[in-house]
Amino acid sequence: MDTIRENPFTIAQRQFDIAADLLDLHPGLCKVLRNPQRELSVSFPVKMDDGSIEVFTGYRVQHNLSRGPAKGGLRYHPQVDLDEVRALAMWMTWKCAVTNLPYGGAKGGVIVDPKQLSLSELERMTRRYATEISVLIGPDRDIPAPDVNTTPQVMAWIMDTISMHQGYTVPAIVTGKPINIGGSHGRNEATARGLTVVLHESARHLSLPLDRARVVIQGFGNAGSVAAHLLHEMGATIVAISDSQGGIYNPGGLQPNAVQQYKQNTGSVTGFPEADTLTNDALLELPCEILVPAALENQITARNASRIKARIIGEAANGPTTPEADEILYDQGCFVIPDILANAGGVTVSYFEWVQGLQEFFWTEREVNAQLERIMSTSFQNVLRTAQERKVHMRTAAYLVAVHLVSQATMTRGIYP
Ligand code: GLU
Repeated sequence: MDTIRENPFTIAQRQFDIAADLLDLHPGLCKVLRNPQRELSVSFPVKMDDGSIEVFTGYRVQHNLSRGPAKGGLRYHPQVDLDEVRALAMWMTWKCAVTNLPYGGAKGGVIVDPKQLSLSELERMTRRYATEISVLIGPDRDIPAPDVNTTPQVMAWIMDTISMHQGYTVPAIVTGKPINIGGSHGRNEATARGLTVVLHESARHLSLPLDRARVVIQGFGNAGSVAAHLLHEMGATIVAISDSQGGIYNPGGLQPNAVQQYKQNTGSVTGFPEADTLTNDALLELPCEILVPAALENQITARNASRIKARIIGEAANGPTTPEADEILYDQGCFVIPDILANAGGVTVSYFEWVQGLQEFFWTEREVNAQLERIMSTSFQNVLRTAQERKVHMRTAAYLVAVHLVSQATMTRGIYP
């Protein structure tokens, strides 16, 4: 990992600039889209179990609302800062446009290590944070969802808090809820399932047999762990897995079920028997066909990109690759499926959950997965066609599709007043 972390918002703006130049976007429109529309910073007290009072800082940023209500997750992490949330919000705008979901982009976060809190402290912190950002969120305004370290239970507390304020239940205020209170079938697996769809399309495009592929997965949270299970089921060999503590490697293949069980018992994948231990840095450079970064930003940079051996990178994480690394990877023939496409399965099923909540009419898991597959493969083909026509890599192609749609919507609506 880089010792000096590049500013994710600067990176997001640079990615946008590349597409804006190629689209010959009006300079005024560039100014509109380069910066978030609204930013809320909150500092709020929480009573801790020992009676002391702790003050937490959190954010909610809405990047753009041209195509519909703002949409995007909430992150609980010690490294959250305003620029990270700005970048994540901007990426949500493009993600919702690439998949043609009727949303703008937003993101939220709290600077906290949730592992240091008791369950009741986590609940009180979540309810107070939800109250603080309630001036911005709402089913037709801005709809949060899970992200790093936030779970269906956290979404349930937010839904309950806002519902208590309103005096009636507001299921469509958040997505990623538990199924028994209006969550959607398939939402938990959606990010990983969407990823498998675009990996499948990419493998076909490159004539690479997926069932003989060696897969390396960085990160074993919701996206990484479910991706390991699904890819294993599809016949791929999962050779390496990591979490924030480090990685494990077995060229003969790891059983995702056994690794998950081991992590549940010990708190980490490291130390898993019958596998070598390695660092997160070394893991990225392993020989494999498919690399899935499913952790945080800035993992693949100019420093290590030339040593990456994967044929395909499927970005389950947001922002794992810097623009310099994109060029190096492209030149060495590595096919990168960019985050705003590769991990869009999560927000796609969030959209289905929101629609189901508004209509109070619920779908089967089979219906959810069929619609998810349709949207993911249509979006993939659209981006691939753009990449081939414009002779650019997949990230720039995805940005061309997304920035075009958002700028068209902005122009059609006009600049108020
Ligand atoms: N946090 C997820 C993402 O980065 C999901 C967002 C959502 O479902 O609204 O795409």
